[in-house]
Amino acid sequence: MHNPTLLMVALSLGALLAAIWLIGGLVLKVARKATLHWAVSNAVLGGAVTLLYQRGHWHDSLAFFGSDVAVLLGYLAVRRGVQVFTSQRPSDLEHAVLLVAGIPALGWLRAMPAVPAQQAAVLLTALLSSYAMWRATQEAYHCMRQDFDRTTSIATVLPIFVIGLLLLGRAVLNWAFPSGGDAVRDATRGAEFGLFLLAAILAQMLQSLSLAGLVIARLIARIRRLSVSDVLTGAANRRRLEDVLGAEMARRRRTGRPLSLAVLDIDHFKHVNDAHGHAAGDAALAATAALMRRLSRTGDLVARLGGEEFCVVLPDTDLAGAAIAVERLRRALEQEMIVFEGKRLHLSASFGVAVCGPREEGWSDLLKRADAALYRAKARGRNCVETAPAEPERVGAEAS
Ligand code: GH3
Ligand code: MG
Ligand code: MG
Repeated sequence: MHNPTLLMVALSLGALLAAIWLIGGLVLKVARKATLHWAVSNAVLGGAVTLLYQRGHWHDSLAFFGSDVAVLLGYLAVRRGVQVFTSQRPSDLEHAVLLVAGIPALGWLRAMPAVPAQQAAVLLTALLSSYAMWRATQEAYHCMRQDFDRTTSIATVLPIFVIGLLLLGRAVLNWAFPSGGDAVRDATRGAEFGLFLLAAILAQMLQSLSLAGLVIARLIARIRRLSVSDVLTGAANRRRLEDVLGAEMARRRRTGRPLSLAVLDIDHFKHVNDAHGHAAGDAALAATAALMRRLSRTGDLVARLGGEEFCVVLPDTDLAGAAIAVERLRRALEQEMIVFEGKRLHLSASFGVAVCGPREEGWSDLLKRADAALYRAKARGRNCVETAPAEPERVGAEAS
């Protein structure tokens, strides 16, 4: 394919990708700020290719220098977009230092006609831009790892890492073969410039592939999170509870490690709604779930069973351990002051705790036994903890 055609392909692709980001951000409102950065990046990188193409027509140093600066700005925009997207503080100071040090150095090098100076300028642009892309790779990877496994995370960020390699590769080629690349006068001809245009097209595709992957991954993570959590309290919902309980019970059977389940029901909650309004009741439910999450260990699962009933799955915890943990929670809730629109609310809850016995039972049986203990706690006068012994012991106790 001859170079003018390749240039048209590169520019059309850049424009199309920029338009897609703009539509995604402004119309569909997907990661508005980040997509704006990425649209600007596509546009600026398109400008870099166009400037380079103008060599021979324009003043050389202007075309080369302009193209270097545009490449640097384009990739810094990609990284800043990634930082905004992943809710990290943008490294504006670092970017400002790179630009303030890099741009005058590039200007100085490009003003010198000597070939080594031109090669040094290409190398400097490549180093600074690939640094930006590798940092963006790292930052995107850390964000991905919060929700996805290592393989998926690497696969998503790999394309932007490869762009860094392409940039360095171009600098190395330019150094090894000074007759090609930037030393070629007429950009409309020559295999070297054609190769450069192909690399530019590839880089644009890799960039968009990675960034689109990042956006889609976050949407998937958000949908997944929404599908397993309770909207009002952020606690796990019933579906997730059933999944986790099932998995934990299977693990208990395999390893013999104890597993406990605590259920709680807020005392006289109807009165909270009646006295302070439904919104205050909602706030109290959210505060209770937050307190439960704060006090539970890593690995415990806090779930909302429905209404003002919650539960905590306590893996690797026997009945005595669970009773201590739950008593701590009961006391913390009793002492917690919930402030809603200037009103102070105090809550208490009754708790039922059950431990998985050595006998095979389903998660619903375990829940039933914890519920029965909770019922006893209510009957005992509320704001207290009742434990249910493991099933065989109970059978034995009844028999004796
Ligand atoms: P007890 O001590 O026996 O548990 O008494 P209680 O008042 O807590 O129990 P009851 O089952 O009579 O009332 C539960 C109340 O919880 C009634 C219901 O309106 C309220 N409720 C359930 N879900 C929500 C919710 O999502 N938001 C709010 N604000 N209230 C809720
Ligand atoms: Mg209830
Ligand atoms: Mg209640």
